[in-house]
Amino acid sequence: MVITVEIPDNVAETLERIGILAKEQGYQAFAVGGCVRDWCLGISENPDIDITSEGEGIALARAAQKFFGGSLVEHTQFGTATLCMEKAPALQLDFASCRKEVYAKPAAYPKVSRGTLDEDLARRDFTINAMALCLDPDNFGVLVDPYEGLEDLKQAYLRVLHDQSFVDDPSRILRGIRFAVRFDLAWEPKTLKLINKAIESESLGLLNAGRLQKEFDLMDQEPDPSECFRVLDDLLSQGENRQVRGE
Ligand code: ATP
Ligand code: MG
Repeated sequence: MVITVEIPDNVAETLERIGILAKEQGYQAFAVGGCVRDWCLGISENPDIDITSEGEGIALARAAQKFFGGSLVEHTQFGTATLCMEKAPALQLDFASCRKEVYAKPAAYPKVSRGTLDEDLARRDFTINAMALCLDPDNFGVLVDPYEGLEDLKQAYLRVLHDQSFVDDPSRILRGIRFAVRFDLAWEPKTLKLINKAIESESLGLLNAGRLQKEFDLMDQEPDPSECFRVLDDLLSQGENRQVRGE
């Protein structure tokens, strides 16, 4: 079944143009991640839009800057670029190429290489963040949702993509708390088990101080930071209780 998602009026024209620019370069572009999740929820205020393509992300960013103006910062080491549009709708567009990630050991930075859209979605944290919207003029607004994130959004479930996810990257535990609190989502039962297991094996302690601080700062910027820290405390103490009960 083909599902199309309504792109907010203030950004639709810009994204249509990006779809055309990508097509001129011989590939398709997709809006991906948080912006798609927010549009599915009817939230249209998010000015940060991630765009991925199976082509060259930086080349598409340059074409977009030529068309729209604005300031472009290229991160050549990562093959990404950020375009800040100066004229309304003043969006921040982050361009990347689709990539896959391999985690050699828990909490280490992954080995990154170019990949397909499917692989790019497979490396993401939660089903609700693993959706893409096609920007190609022939399929504009068509949802790509291999993990049924839309259904999870409807059920208000936060579900991880695979069993190793929190071991690979324990910062996803803290990200998950933010999304659960911000959007009032329940942990999908297996996801909660995996979080508890990761906490028990002290995964969070594998994150370096900088990454932990970054996640705590992001929690602080949430609409309800104290609820985020309360949920974290709850998860941590559930682990302690289990140890006391000898489970
Ligand atoms: P927010 O509204 O807080 O910005 P977001 O979903 O846009 O939420 P970002 O941190 O901006 O989150 O990341 C953009 C996307 O990149 C996410 O939606 C997710 O698909 C992916 N992502 C970010 N961090 C991770 C991670 N640690 N592990 C897996 N995927 C991630
Ligand atoms: Mg974001």
